[in-house]
Amino acid sequence: MAPPAKEGGEDLEFEAVASALDQMERITSRTQLTLLLVGILKKTPARVIDKVVYLIQGKIGPEWKDLPELGIGEKMLIKAISLAYRTSEQQVERLYKSIGDLGKVAETLSARAGRPAASGLLAFMETEKASLTVSRVYDTLLRIAYAQGEGSRDLKLRLLSGLLADAKPKEAKYIVRFVEGRLRVGIGDATVLDALAIVFGGGAQARPIVERAYNLRADLGMVASLLAQKGLEALQDIGPMIGIPIRPMLAERGKSLEELFKKVGGKAIVEYKYDGERAQIHKKDDQIYIFSRRMENITNMYPDVVSMARERIKAREAIVEGEIVAIDPETLELRPFQELMHRKRKHDIYRVMKEVPVAVFLFDVLYADGKDLTKRTLLERRRVLEDIVDPTETFAIAKYVVTDDVNEAWRLFLEAVEEGAEGIMIKAIHDKSYYVAGVREWLWIKFKRDYKSEMMDTVDLVVVGAFYGRGKRGGMLSSLLMAAYDPERDLFKTVCKVATGFSDEELANMQELLEPLKRQSKHPRVESRVKPDVWIEPSLVAEILGAELTLSPMHSCCLDAIRQGVGISIRFPRFIRWRPDKRPEDATTEEELLEMYKSQLRKVEEAPAQEAV
Ligand code: ATP
Repeated sequence: MAPPAKEGGEDLEFEAVASALDQMERITSRTQLTLLLVGILKKTPARVIDKVVYLIQGKIGPEWKDLPELGIGEKMLIKAISLAYRTSEQQVERLYKSIGDLGKVAETLSARAGRPAASGLLAFMETEKASLTVSRVYDTLLRIAYAQGEGSRDLKLRLLSGLLADAKPKEAKYIVRFVEGRLRVGIGDATVLDALAIVFGGGAQARPIVERAYNLRADLGMVASLLAQKGLEALQDIGPMIGIPIRPMLAERGKSLEELFKKVGGKAIVEYKYDGERAQIHKKDDQIYIFSRRMENITNMYPDVVSMARERIKAREAIVEGEIVAIDPETLELRPFQELMHRKRKHDIYRVMKEVPVAVFLFDVLYADGKDLTKRTLLERRRVLEDIVDPTETFAIAKYVVTDDVNEAWRLFLEAVEEGAEGIMIKAIHDKSYYVAGVREWLWIKFKRDYKSEMMDTVDLVVVGAFYGRGKRGGMLSSLLMAAYDPERDLFKTVCKVATGFSDEELANMQELLEPLKRQSKHPRVESRVKPDVWIEPSLVAEILGAELTLSPMHSCCLDAIRQGVGISIRFPRFIRWRPDKRPEDATTEEELLEMYKSQLRKVEEAPAQEAV
C-alpha cells in the first residue's frame, strides 16, 4: 500500500496519476473516461489539483502562458534513461528498437533496476523507492522547461534522470511519454469540466457555472484550484482578468439574408467579416498581450500590433477583439489570409513586418477599466469600444452599419467582398446580445462569399484515423478518416475519408505529423463505424471542401438524425489546408453539419423560385 501523502495529505502520490493514465489507455468510452477522472480528482488535495489537471492533459500549464518547451529530444531522452538505470545508451536503443516505445523501455528498465538483488533488508530497501509526489514530478518538469542557456543541457539531463531513477516502472513510463509530448491530447477540456462539475458541484447542474468560469478564464488548472479551495460559489461572480484569454464567442453560419435578419430579431449590426487572424488584445498600462483564436499567446509575432495597441487604446486596462489582416504596403488594400500565414512562418519577424504589414479591425470590447462588459449589449459595447480607441487607418473599428434593411446588408456584403473581405457578419443588438464566451450562437452569424457558389461550404474536420495508400503511395498514410465534433457529448464522429487534395509535399509532411499521434486502439472520444488502418489521436484539424452532403450508412456523424441507421457524409471531399489555428474542439460540429444538410435540401426545393429572383 502507498504511504500516506506528505504534509498532512497536501500532496498526491504520482503513482495515482500514472495508474489513471494507464487505465485510460485501455478504456474506449467517454463515460468511463469521465468516471476515471472523477476518481482521481476526488483523491487529489486542493493544493495540487491544478498540477494534476495539467499533468493529466500532458502539459505544464495552459497554452497561452507561453511556457518554454521541455527541450528534450529523443537522443537526450535515451541518455537520461541510460543514466537513470545505469545502463548504456546502446542498450536503451536496442530495447527501443525491439519494443518501439521509449515509455515502455523506461518501464522495463525501471522494473529491472528495482528487482531485489539481495535478500533481507537490502532487498527491501532496493524495491521500496522514495515515493514520487505530484509536486515533485510537476516541479521538476517545470525546472526542466525553464533550464535555458549555457549548461542547461546537463541540468535538464540530471533533473530528468533523477526523476526517472526514483520512479516506479509505471511512473517512469508516463514521465517519458509526457516528455515526448505524447500525452498532450488525450483528455479534452470538456471531459475535465464534466468531472469537475461532478466532484465539486454534485453533477451536471453545476456544469454551466464551471464552464462559464472556464470560458472567461481559459485555465482549467486555475478553475480547478478555485473550486477545490473555495467551492462553487467562488466561480459565480468570476470576471475577465487581464493576461488570461477569454474563450472567443463564435458565429453560426447562414445562407439567406432575410432569414438571418429574422434570426437576430430584425435589426442588427452588419459588418465586414475580415479574412485574417482573430486577435484578443489585452492592455494594462504599457503591457500588451495578444491571444489567438485558440488562445495561444501570439504577442511576439505582432510587434507592430503591440505598438499600435499601446498607442491607440486610451483605456488604462482593456480587453478588445479584432481581426489582424495582411494589407498591401503601398495601397493599404486588404490581402488574403494566406499572406498573413506567410508572415507567421518566418522567423525574422522585424523584416517580415515590413514585407507583410498588417491592419487591425476591432469588433468588440469585453473589459475596460475594471468593468466586465461581457454582460452588456453589443451596442453598449460598441459605444465603449469607440470611446476607448483612437483609430487610424491600420488600427480601426471594423466597418459596420446598424440596419434592419436586407438590401443595405446586401450592398455592404458586395462592397466587403469587392474590398477583399470574406463577407459580412450579422450581429444581434437586442437586449440579450451579450458576449457569450466560448459559445457558437445565433447572436453572431457569418455570411460568406463561398456560400453563394454552387460548391458546398468548407468544413473543418478532425483527423481520427488514417489509411495506407496503394501503388505510388504504398506504405504511406495517404487518406484520412475525418470527424466532426459533438460538443454535447464531447465526441468526434466520423464524416468522410479524404484522399485527394494533398500535394506531394503535404503527403510527406503528413507522415511526420501523424507519427506521434498513432494509437493502438480507437480513442475513447471517437465514435466510428469505420475501422481505419491506424487510429489517430484527435488533434489535427483540416479544412475540407466537398461537392455536397449525402446520407451514408458508413459514418457516425448525425446518425439517425435524418433517417434511422444512417449518418451524414461528404461527397468528393478534398483537402484544402490544415487549420493549425483550430483545436479539435473548434471543428465543425455535428449540429452544424445537420443544419447544412437541411439547408442543402431546402436549396434544392427552392431552386426554381430563387432563380426567378
Ligand atoms: P471561419 O472558419 O469561417 O473563418 P471560424 O470557425 O474560424 O470561422 P467563426 O466564429 O465561425 O470562426 O467565424 C468568425 C470568425 O471570423 C472570427 O473568429 C474572426 O476571426 C473572424 N472575423 C472577421 N471579421 C469579424 C467581425 N467583424 N466580427 C467577428 N468576427 C470576425
